[in-house]
Amino acid sequence: MLHGDKHLRKELTRLYPGKTVKFLLNDQGGLEKLVYERSRTETIAVSREEDGFDIEKVFKQPQKELHQASGTVESTLYIAGKKAGLSDSLVMQLTDIFAWDIDFSRSIHPGDSFNVLYEKLYLDGEYLGDGAIVAAEFVNQGKIHQALRFTLPDGTSEYYTPEGKTLRKAFLRMPVKSARISSRFNLHRRHPILHRIRAHKGVDYAAPVGTPVHATGDGKIVYRGWKGGYGRVIILQHGRRYSTLYAHLHRFNSRFKIGSKVRQGDVIAYVGRSGLASGPHLHYEFRINGIHRDPLTVPLPESTPIPKALLAVFKQQTSPLLATLESSRQTALARQEIQGE
Ligand SMILES: [Zn+2]
Repeated sequence: MLHGDKHLRKELTRLYPGKTVKFLLNDQGGLEKLVYERSRTETIAVSREEDGFDIEKVFKQPQKELHQASGTVESTLYIAGKKAGLSDSLVMQLTDIFAWDIDFSRSIHPGDSFNVLYEKLYLDGEYLGDGAIVAAEFVNQGKIHQALRFTLPDGTSEYYTPEGKTLRKAFLRMPVKSARISSRFNLHRRHPILHRIRAHKGVDYAAPVGTPVHATGDGKIVYRGWKGGYGRVIILQHGRRYSTLYAHLHRFNSRFKIGSKVRQGDVIAYVGRSGLASGPHLHYEFRINGIHRDPLTVPLPESTPIPKALLAVFKQQTSPLLATLESSRQTALARQEIQGE
């Protein structure tokens, strides 16, 4: 009889080729222990107990080391990042952190600079990969943007300004990463299939079938199913006032169901052409107190700042990081001045 978590037990029935399973036998040749190394940091162990076998997952916590990298943009941020020793994933993290305040596709200029403090992960002295950015600064056309990572009591981490305001907005502007806007919010539109004036209360994004659709804000799935001309549709409720709708979907992400909580950016479904749609696209609606608003122009609310009760802890934890960022910017400036003379 095998005891323990049923998901873990199931996992043992799906072993990946190339992985090692170790068996420990007793004097009678019976199984005493089985160890499966799922990844460098995760091991599943089955051991004999008095009344059968017990299964457990063992995590090895990697050691974290803080590293610093800085650079100045000469042509592109990507090249400057590479030159500073940042991996692709760190450059992506950096642009994600400041995406709300800096338009990285259009407003990056030569002379813009960045400074990043990030974690490198090690296990038993061996390098595993890069971890998270813990503090970052981006100077965009002379304006200084700063971000400090802080983990809330529920275990989620966010980036905040030194004053404790979140950098991200409560909503993403678009639910798809790259897509062409094929129809805008328009209360007097002639419907392409019905050929009569019918308000278009959302924005259409033309994208291939299967393109991931992201939740634009933290919320809860309140509807997931078929709804007339919308075809396959998901409705998210965000707090009491806001709701968003995603229509003509190809399929839903089976990770979630009705009532599931989702985080901003989670993939909730995939673009399709279900319902009344002339081609594959996502129809996206944004409502405040039940009233449709233009998703492209509606002022987006700020995310929740650091709770007042945690502000002192936040400042205490982040002030050394902030000091490091500031002092290395001074050093970089001084170096530039010397070179300039
Ligand atoms: Zn539409």
